[in-house]
This record gives sequence, C-alpha cells and structure tokens, in this order.
Amino acid sequence: MSKAAPQKVAVLGAGPIGLEAALYAKAAGFTVAVYDRGAIADHIRQWGHVRMFTPFGVNATSLGLKALLREKPNRTLPAATDIITGREFRDAYLVPLGETEQLLESLQQETTVLHVGRVTKGFRLLVRAAKGQERIDTADFVLDCTGTFSTPKWLGDAGIPAVGELTARSQIAFNIDDIPGERKAHYAGRSIALIGDGYSAATTICALAALAVEHSATWVFWITRGARGQPLPRIANDPFKERDRLAVKANSLATRCDGNLEFHPQTVLDEVVSHGPDKGFSIAGRSNGKPISYSVERVIANVGYRPDLNLRVEGPGYFVLGAKSRDAGFLLRDGFEQIRQVFATITGNARLDLYDKKAA
Ligand SMILES: Cc1cc2nc3c(=O)[nH]c(=O)nc-3n(C[C@H](O)[C@H](O)[C@H](O)COP(=O)(O)OP(=O)(O)OC[C@H]3O[C@@H](n4cnc5c(N)ncnc54)[C@H](O)[C@@H]3O)c2cc1C
Repeated sequence: MSKAAPQKVAVLGAGPIGLEAALYAKAAGFTVAVYDRGAIADHIRQWGHVRMFTPFGVNATSLGLKALLREKPNRTLPAATDIITGREFRDAYLVPLGETEQLLESLQQETTVLHVGRVTKGFRLLVRAAKGQERIDTADFVLDCTGTFSTPKWLGDAGIPAVGELTARSQIAFNIDDIPGERKAHYAGRSIALIGDGYSAATTICALAALAVEHSATWVFWITRGARGQPLPRIANDPFKERDRLAVKANSLATRCDGNLEFHPQTVLDEVVSHGPDKGFSIAGRSNGKPISYSVERVIANVGYRPDLNLRVEGPGYFVLGAKSRDAGFLLRDGFEQIRQVFATITGNARLDLYDKKAA
C-alpha cells in the first residue's frame, strides 16, 4: 500500500464483524468509514436476550481487547470462558469498541448504505443519513458486513412465500422472541405454530416448553421440513457444549412430544393466512405428502435468513464477510479469519496477520 495516500475502506455494517474489520483496517494503515443503518451491533440488540453458545474469549479478538484496555486499563470485561447473552456481549464489548478513539471518528450510525457501484478506480456509495439526506461517498475497497438478520427466508415450499404470507408477514414473528421475558403474555396459553429446525427454533421450542409448564393451555405445533426423527443434527464432539446442550434438549422435546407439543417433521407449508392483527392464522400444507391444516393464534418462523442481494458488487475490491457470507452456521471466529484473509489479499502481503494468537 502506498504510504503517501492511504487507501479508503468502506465497512458496511457495525456488527461484530464490521467493527473488527474496521479495527483491523485501521491497524493496517487504511482510512476507514463504518456505516450502520441503526446503532452499533443493531442485529445483536434485537436478539440480546439470547444466551450465546460460544464463550466470550472466542467472540473477541486480541485487537479488540487491546483497544479497549488501552483506553481504560481497569475496564471490567467478561472472562474468556464466560457464556454471556447477546446483550451482555454488546454492552461489554461491542458498544465500547465502537466508541474507542480508533473507531469513533470512523463510525456513522443511523446511516444506511443504499447502493454500491464500481467506477474505474474503486466504488461509489449512495448513502442515506439519519435525517434522510442522501450523498455519495467513495472508497477503494468495500467490506460488506451487513449480515442477514433483517431479511428472513420465506416460509413456503421451494423457498418462495406461502399463499397469504406476503400479507401476513407483519403478524409473524421471524426472530427469536423473548418468550420468558417481555413477550411472555403474547404467547402464554396460546396455540402456536413454530416453523424451523435450526438453533434459533431450538431456542424458541425450549422457551415455549418452559412456558407450557407455567401456562398449561399453551399448545405448540413444531413444523420442520426434515425427515429426521431428531430435528437438530448433533455435531460429533461439539467444542461448544452450550450448542450441544441446546440441540439435545430440543431433540428430546421433539421425540417425547413433552411440553404440550406436537412435532411434525417432513412438513411443508403452502398457506399462511392471517385473519388480522391478533385474530389468528389458518395454516395449511403437506406432511409426508398428506394435506394438513391448523388454526393457530401465533406463528413463529425461525427459518433462517437470506442475504440482501441488492447490495452486492461482483469482482475485485468488494468483499462479503460475516453472516452474509454463509447460508448458515456462521461463527464469529470464522469472520475473524475472513478479515485476516481479506487484508492479506488487499495489501498483497499473504503473511499479514495482526492478531496476537496468544492474547485472543
Ligand atoms: C440468535 C443468534 C445467536 C448467535 N450466537 C452465536 C454464538 O454464540 N457464537 C457465534 O460465533 N455466532 C453466533 N451467532 C452467529 C453470528 O455470529 C451472528 O449472527 C453475528 O451477529 C454476525 O455478525 P455480522 O457482523 O456478520 O452481522 P450482524 O451482527 O448481523 O451485523 C450487521 C450490521 O449491519 C447493519 N446493516 C445492515 N444493512 C445495512 C445497510 N444497508 N447499511 C448500513 N448498515 C447495515 C445492521 O444494522 C447490523 O448492525 C448467532 C446468531 C444468532 C442470530
């Protein structure tokens, strides 16, 4: 990289990977702009009540920890082995990181990147700031760390919306609702369809089973596409015990059908029709090829997320990192390795590694 003119990196998204990428870019000598359409780690804020399954030490980098301790050596941070919630991770690490001297001047919250286009040298970004003013920014490199959390997948078969889903979407819970906490009254004593068979659905089914113990009228139809007797595949020798515990608990609920729960594997949905706000749903589909239909009061769709492909430029200089780079199973530590590789590529120094392995 030319010392005379530091090149500019635009980081889209101030989630954990965007913030770490920005820090790395600064440490590598680039000029940086980080944009987030919300606040710092806005997606994690939305699932803040959920306990993470990787310990804090795996979720933070040596660069991040050093930046925080440089400014405030007495700062209290979680221990490396602590299993903390999304909210605790955000409050103890991500927000302070965004507010460090290194990042604060680069960070633009409430600022959405609407479009990115390539020009002869670098990129042009159409950006909309908090009060709606639009402008053009430029960058030599773009790191797209915008995640997928705000674009859930469709509920219907073949990856398209079910009949009625487009209208019903605002009534459906696509995220991990805080069922033990602030959303308890919304679900207690209700009939609920839960669709999905990943770790988010596992978190939800465990919370609903606990709710059914307290409120016995609660009834759950757990609908999954897979043919498996156990909805969550267990990872052999899973290094993350919390993740394994979650899979075991959810599988046990499915196989025992405890907790006022009916488990319906091999089931796809064709229709999800809302009867209006708080007026319930009719859902219909096929289970093992046979037609099924239910009337339920609530629908929770934990069916995963898809990348927003409107924001994507093919070719050199534009890198997709973080949750957006994978269909499922993304871990923060994968993102830290992506960051290392991206900067090795753009500096042309294959050996560049700014992480201190011993400290991480
Ligand atoms: C419930 C849950 C629990 C998880 N637990 C773990 C765990 O224990 N361990 C682990 O390693 N991983 C875990 N993950 C997976 C993954 O690490 C997280 O999803 C993580 O938040 C991904 O970070 P990210 O920076 O790629 O994206 P995100 O955290 O999704 O951040 C993207 C950011 O981009 C912003 N943005 C989006 N579009 C725009 C735009 N157009 N312009 C400007 N800004 C934009 C958003 O506001 C957001 O702040 C979990 C995921 C979920 C959903």
